[in-house]
Amino acid sequence: MSSEIFEKVISHCKEYGFVFPSSDIYGGLAAVYDYGQNGVELRNNLRQYWWKSMTQVNQNIVGIEAAIFMHPKTWKASGHIDGFNDPMIDNKDSKKRYRADVLLEDHQEKIRQKIEKEIDKAAKRFGETFDAALYRETNPRVVEYQQKIDSIDQRMKGGLESGDLASIKSLIEEEGIVCPISGSKNWTDVRQFNLMYSTQMSAIENGEDQLYLRPETAQGIFVNFLNVQKTGRMKLPFGIAQTGKAFRNEIVARQFIMRMKEFEQMEMQFFVKPGTELGWYESWKKQRLQWHMALGINPSHYRYHDHVKLAHYANAAVDIEYQFPFGFKEVEGIHSRTDFDLGRHEEFSGKKLRYFDPETNESYIPYVVETSIGLDRLFLLALCEAYQEESVDGDTRVLLKLHPAVAPVKAAILPLVKKDGLPELAESIYNQLRLDYNVYIEDKDSIGKRYRRMDAIGTPFCITVDHDSLTQGDVTVRDRDTMEQTRVKIEDLKNLLDSRVSMSTLLKQIIPS
Ligand code: ATP
Repeated sequence: MSSEIFEKVISHCKEYGFVFPSSDIYGGLAAVYDYGQNGVELRNNLRQYWWKSMTQVNQNIVGIEAAIFMHPKTWKASGHIDGFNDPMIDNKDSKKRYRADVLLEDHQEKIRQKIEKEIDKAAKRFGETFDAALYRETNPRVVEYQQKIDSIDQRMKGGLESGDLASIKSLIEEEGIVCPISGSKNWTDVRQFNLMYSTQMSAIENGEDQLYLRPETAQGIFVNFLNVQKTGRMKLPFGIAQTGKAFRNEIVARQFIMRMKEFEQMEMQFFVKPGTELGWYESWKKQRLQWHMALGINPSHYRYHDHVKLAHYANAAVDIEYQFPFGFKEVEGIHSRTDFDLGRHEEFSGKKLRYFDPETNESYIPYVVETSIGLDRLFLLALCEAYQEESVDGDTRVLLKLHPAVAPVKAAILPLVKKDGLPELAESIYNQLRLDYNVYIEDKDSIGKRYRRMDAIGTPFCITVDHDSLTQGDVTVRDRDTMEQTRVKIEDLKNLLDSRVSMSTLLKQIIPS
């Protein structure tokens, strides 16, 4: 998918009521967005799919909803006050601020694209006998590009981990990276920038009044670990799930809803017996990818990105990346976090956060495997994957091939004409379906135009009510993807929707048979 298509996805989002810039009439607010009438339905459905797949499908996973404000000690314990920083650098000519690591990653991506170009050219030259993997390993130019990428990776990670920010600046200079706006290499030093937003709440403790908007939802789960374990009489292994807003003062806000200052996370912390965590990590890694694929996403658009260098508290970590039009990017992280978080909260709160294991008669701090996905990135992924342009009878049909269970509107009921009792019959069909599904009556414009509007918001079925419907009790049901039309008895419509668009059709696909 090209960046041209990505621009189309963005304007489609605005034109069809999916996403609007925040406070649009005042010119918008950078990296903050509102969801419109169709966007909110799609987003709710994606959230519901996640929520049910965690808490409803699994006996041993329960949900909570913690407050956005938390005691400030939470963030001292979690390490966010001291360490939740991004390295920033300013260009002195354009006065634009960048994340130093992102500048380097973009530079690496450009080199990666050069590799792909070389491979495409060679594939054309050698035809069917071409072995891309072998070419990657042996072609001197490709090998040199790859070495360059790897060496930037090593130096960047080394500099960031040791806090040697001067080495990051040198790397940017040596690579000849220029500011995309001014085109100059006139850079400031690299500095650390904390991403948490702070605000005040009158005297919290010892005269302190500074409070933070949570930068992740996970800590709300950790601090409630014992509350849930005790009141729910939960036995290891068990999980706690939560969805909710998180806030980060991202330096580089771009790529639409990919990186926002206010966004939503869906996180699940799975508490396990120490020593069993790597087995659970592998199992969640697999399950989460299957969950994504059940949405009908092309498997080749996903890849795992295993973390080679791990954070000090993790003993395994992987990102699930999706191939956005601007390259493979993280949508979800799966981390084996050992007993780091609960251990730190025990230390900072002075409260024991231990599990009494009835099988071994021991008390210990459980280990944690977490899955963490951004709802807004998932939303963007779903739209990038679903957006299609087809040529039909010399015309272009734009459609969103969303999985029917997450589509904003499940069916549109279209009376062929606005007379002869057809609107009344449409209304009665609407009344039969509306308690279970988000359905919609549309009577303006020609039937063709109405079909196109429904295709553009991803409505799986259009139900056309015509004169025969009055006498025969059936309607024409048009399928969004195939455009095939079939006659269906009115009394069978609910069954049709149950079997094709309900959330359980989607959940069924993730349950091991
Ligand atoms: P990135 O490296 O892209 O900044 P991250 O590693 O900081 O992401 P996590 O802290 O692991 O992200 O958060 C888990 C998930 O939350 C990410 O996989 C992503 O889907 C989502 N997320 C994180 N930051 C943002 C943001 N600013 N806007 C939208 N979604 C976000």
